[in-house]
Amino acid sequence: MKITVIFPARDLEPTKATVSVMPPSLTLLAALTPDKHEVTLVDMFMGDQVEYESEVDLVAITVRTPLAVAAYEIADEFLKREKKVILGGPHTFALPEEAKSHASAVAIGEGEKLWPIILKDAEQDKLKDFYVCGPYPVEGLKGTVHHEKERPSLEGLPMMRRDLLPKKRYFMDSMFTTRGCPNHCRFCPVTDIFGSKIRHRPIDEVVAEVATLAKLYFNVDDSVFGHPQIKDRPVENQYYLDLYKELAGLRPKHLWGGAGGLSAVNYKDGRKILELAAESGLSAVAAGLESISSKGQKQSGAWRKLHYTSPDTFDLRKMKENIRTIQDLGIVIMGFFIIGWDEDTGETYYRTLDFCDECNIIPFIFTLTPMPGSQIYQEYLEQGRILTDRPWDHYGGGYVVFKHPLMSENEMLEANSEVMRQGYSMGRISKRTLHAVTRRLSLYVLTTSFFTQLGLRKAYRQLHEQIQARS
Ligand code: SF4
Repeated sequence: MKITVIFPARDLEPTKATVSVMPPSLTLLAALTPDKHEVTLVDMFMGDQVEYESEVDLVAITVRTPLAVAAYEIADEFLKREKKVILGGPHTFALPEEAKSHASAVAIGEGEKLWPIILKDAEQDKLKDFYVCGPYPVEGLKGTVHHEKERPSLEGLPMMRRDLLPKKRYFMDSMFTTRGCPNHCRFCPVTDIFGSKIRHRPIDEVVAEVATLAKLYFNVDDSVFGHPQIKDRPVENQYYLDLYKELAGLRPKHLWGGAGGLSAVNYKDGRKILELAAESGLSAVAAGLESISSKGQKQSGAWRKLHYTSPDTFDLRKMKENIRTIQDLGIVIMGFFIIGWDEDTGETYYRTLDFCDECNIIPFIFTLTPMPGSQIYQEYLEQGRILTDRPWDHYGGGYVVFKHPLMSENEMLEANSEVMRQGYSMGRISKRTLHAVTRRLSLYVLTTSFFTQLGLRKAYRQLHEQIQARS
């Protein structure tokens, strides 16, 4: 069969064209496709166009909530042309029946086990309505179902088909080492999608893959330092110690970024993991800090991933210390915060920016978007707080999709775009860059940090103008 795999995009995407990361969902699906099929990858985020009149037999589209409208439009066009359309991704996990009305079949959960079965069924014209992987109840699904109850092992995965994408196209390459998250933050569906048990890729397979990557890559795991609260923590710690020791020995050396909390600072193995990660080239961490107040920590559920025993023990001073310890290893911290927890006000946006300034972290301050599939979305839906007239493309920044008890939609939008405008002033960008360079003296860190922030400045200014023009 001729297969096209599509990663859709929408126009209003703050990081578009600034910090592009190779989408692993495309290249992994291509790698899982048996050789007898011909695969084409379309990354609309990078400007690829969809060729509706091409001779394609089957189209697979990744559906994230902000891109659901775009994905459904593309899917409908191919259905009109009597092509087989498969939809998968986080949005289909949350709303499979909605997705089915735009698809020949819907994949729910991870693709490794499902994709070969879907292709075989498609070849024989025997597609089922739903293909499910994971321990989920399927009785409620209206249609025929193929169900793989066990999640896939991450051993022996094929190398992603990066060769199917143009060379040197992305600012960063990407890879992953684990799946699963025990934290169950209330705004995030990842624990339900990948499970709370952590699965690891074998270290030799990860190292062999990293050796083939571009100089700069992003590890898309939810925590590159592990999860200190899990029962088999010693096993997991050893995994990271061994992995980063191996990666530190690779030549040429790679620089990389990833997401991670701050709690590794608080225990002996964690500090060793941090040091080895830095030695292996870790130069930037996206830290989901979520809130600077214990009430925000409680409502978000983020206190668990930050390794507090309860939201009441949240301590901002300790957070600052942890940040400093990680920065002293030469690792830049990008602080991700969500504003819109019930006690937040317009002031919270500005206090959060002050905190970022004080700690020299790159600010990513967003208004809460309750994502379908998360606990918050379900709770707000039941309370009548979701603005149900808003299309899915309002779920990706630049819009408000829920009712807040203290702030109006406009207040949230304006405060958010103003702090992001201020947060990327030339003075602040220069101060943060200088701070990073004094901790890791490297021309590469200097230019990457400076130009990445310049790109973000441009993107957030555009977003600010769009919001100003709308209000
Ligand atoms: S936000 Fe991060 S830590 Fe929390 S559930 Fe999602 S992936 Fe896990």
